[in-house]
Amino acid sequence: MKIGFIGLGNMGAPMAINLAKDHDITGFDTIAQPDGIAMAPNAAAAAKDADVVITMLPNGDILRAVADEIHPAMKPGAIHLDCSTVDVQSARAVATQAETHRLAAIDAPVSGGIGGATNGTLTFMAGGPDAAFAKVKPLFDIMGQKAVHCGAAGNGQAAKICNNMILGVTMIATCEAFVLADKLGLDRRAMFDVVSTSSGYSWTMNAYCPAPGVGPQSPADNNYQPGFAAELMLKDLNLSQMAAEAADADTPMGQAATALYQQFVESEDGKGKDFSAMLLRFESRRRG
Ligand code: NAD
Repeated sequence: MKIGFIGLGNMGAPMAINLAKDHDITGFDTIAQPDGIAMAPNAAAAAKDADVVITMLPNGDILRAVADEIHPAMKPGAIHLDCSTVDVQSARAVATQAETHRLAAIDAPVSGGIGGATNGTLTFMAGGPDAAFAKVKPLFDIMGQKAVHCGAAGNGQAAKICNNMILGVTMIATCEAFVLADKLGLDRRAMFDVVSTSSGYSWTMNAYCPAPGVGPQSPADNNYQPGFAAELMLKDLNLSQMAAEAADADTPMGQAATALYQQFVESEDGKGKDFSAMLLRFESRRRG
């Protein structure tokens, strides 16, 4: 396939490099110039002959601006595959616009981070038409280990933000429970042994434990180097709250998690740390 790849940052570059082993890639990025990818002078030039144009961009406003530039240049029947994490409304607006240019759009945000992008083990959550999903499925198989088709346009983004809202809330619950356990004189390893095999178990406790030296290796054992950075968790929580507002859904736990991560990132030195470093925040605020 001829593929245009726009947005070759931390995630996009390794994804494009994996695809370049089997496909003809033309890239574009306003800043990045990764080795091993042929670059076009602008986004429209990267998109014009492509069967599939993949975008991996920072946010919905940039995605909309890039879509305005590339959709008129793309050939009819081509697919715009957006793998960025953006708001549901931008994903749906881009899909509607694609249709007016006789293109198909798939929104397919990922989980798995930079390691998953490099190793080709990402999980894709996709929204969009069946036929377009089937056409890009072989690309998902190269870049990832799993692709779930979640329904119509925007549903990939919906799945991603619902998942990450649960993740943010459970990480906070796990961290605050560890600090309560400390205060009550309960050993952290005993706490882990009980909770990880009891009804309080969760991915954040069992697979990504925020307490160092307890449970399997996690960013906590590496001085909270990300991993999944706190500011990226805040981005996804903010998207969940935008979606909740627009859909009139009541998400009080998501709202509380958003406020805590915002405080952590903006005024408690959380920026640049893994999102599990929320444990340090509770440790230092025992009387706060
Ligand atoms: P990044 O900032 O490293 O990469 C984004 C790239 O887009 C940059 O190279 C930037 O120069 C480029 N860009 C910005 N505006 C552009 C434009 N108008 N035209 C062309 N290129 C442009 O970000 P990232 O970490 O690669 O994340 C990309 C997306 O993936 C985000 O939506 C993020 O939320 C999502 N995501 C990231 C991770 C992660 O662990 N980093 C995990 C899951 C999802």
